[in-house]
Amino acid sequence: QGNVLADLVGEGTTYIAGQGGRGGLGNAALASARRKAPGFALLGVPGESTDIVLELKTVADVALVGYPSAGKSSLISVLSAAKPKIADYPFTTLVPNLGVVTAGATVYTIADVPGLIPGASQGKGLGLEFLRHVERCSVLVHVLDTATLESDRDPVSDLDIIEEELKQYGGLDDRPRIVVLNKIDIPDGQDLADMIRPDLEARGYQVFEVSAVARTGLKELSFALAGIVAEARAAKPKEEATRIVIRPKAVDDAGFTVTFDEANEVYRVRGEKPERWIRQTDFNNDEAVGYLADRLNRLGVEDALVKAGARSGDGVAIGPEENAVVFDWEPTMMAGAEMLGRRGEDHRLEAPRPAAQRRRDRDAERDEAEQEFKEFGPF
Ligand code: GDP
Ligand code: MG
Repeated sequence: QGNVLADLVGEGTTYIAGQGGRGGLGNAALASARRKAPGFALLGVPGESTDIVLELKTVADVALVGYPSAGKSSLISVLSAAKPKIADYPFTTLVPNLGVVTAGATVYTIADVPGLIPGASQGKGLGLEFLRHVERCSVLVHVLDTATLESDRDPVSDLDIIEEELKQYGGLDDRPRIVVLNKIDIPDGQDLADMIRPDLEARGYQVFEVSAVARTGLKELSFALAGIVAEARAAKPKEEATRIVIRPKAVDDAGFTVTFDEANEVYRVRGEKPERWIRQTDFNNDEAVGYLADRLNRLGVEDALVKAGARSGDGVAIGPEENAVVFDWEPTMMAGAEMLGRRGEDHRLEAPRPAAQRRRDRDAERDEAEQEFKEFGPF
């Protein structure tokens, strides 16, 4: 719901949005000193599924902003090897263009923000869609059209309008800006550039006069940008690759809870282990069910049910409300399943000696630990 799960900055950063499932275990893997020929297997458990929105933010060092047709795409095409679409009407560029520029020893990326028009912050055009691509930029370049034929426009008010949109979007105030006066190959354009230059410089902008078509003024511009980018990089600590793993939170890592669910009139067992064991159980196989009962019992689920007030015949649900396995709880039946559960073994034959009981419990615990190790591996 609009929560940022992870910001994947830094090369190699990974984020696990959904854990993969766990494979099943064949009966051979379930054999132990005590259970020599298990006649059941553990089922695999499906992986997590979730809906997430991925947002790509182009990592551009330099962002070109300006009215449609100011010449942003043209500039990228002449400053870099990128060949974006260039045309004489607004919104030719529906995806941000990205180019790689080499100026001296500095290599940097340059991107444009297409469709930024007055009112973009109120949802007009597509400009705000694209602004996120330049959120990470080090410098903003105002590309101003000195040769526009629209009578109600001039480069300085164009700049003010774009600035207003940037302000509405927010988060870019601290970025340095420079001004590029484009299309000075057109005589009227050069005249206008000469006229407004002092004004812009008085406002504190570094101003570059260029022509993307005649390819003039580009070298100065690209080196100036390289300088700003290099400075910004030096000031910023390098992003380290990180590995972000968010594991689903268990109710209680090693344990479980038992509560009475009034609405459904069942005792509800929640916990990472019991819920996983349920999913791993093939309920068509008595031996597998016996193994499950054994595991649950050893974890203390039956004792907890007794403590919670559950009585023979009560409903017990293991798992969340929308996805639980419900049992008719029969304490003696569970114990019976446990006793008959293992092939080639019948505990009823063992004398009820405390020593034998202790050994049995100890063996079972060792089995359990071995099991967990097999399932989860040594990490
Ligand atoms: P964008 O919308 O800002 O990406 O603008 P484009 O790069 O697509 O250019 C819009 C129009 O302006 C195209 O017809 C370009 O050929 C033209 N144009 C771009 N730069 C110059 C220039 O320096 N001089 C002239 N005369 N035309 C240019
Ligand atoms: Mg364009």
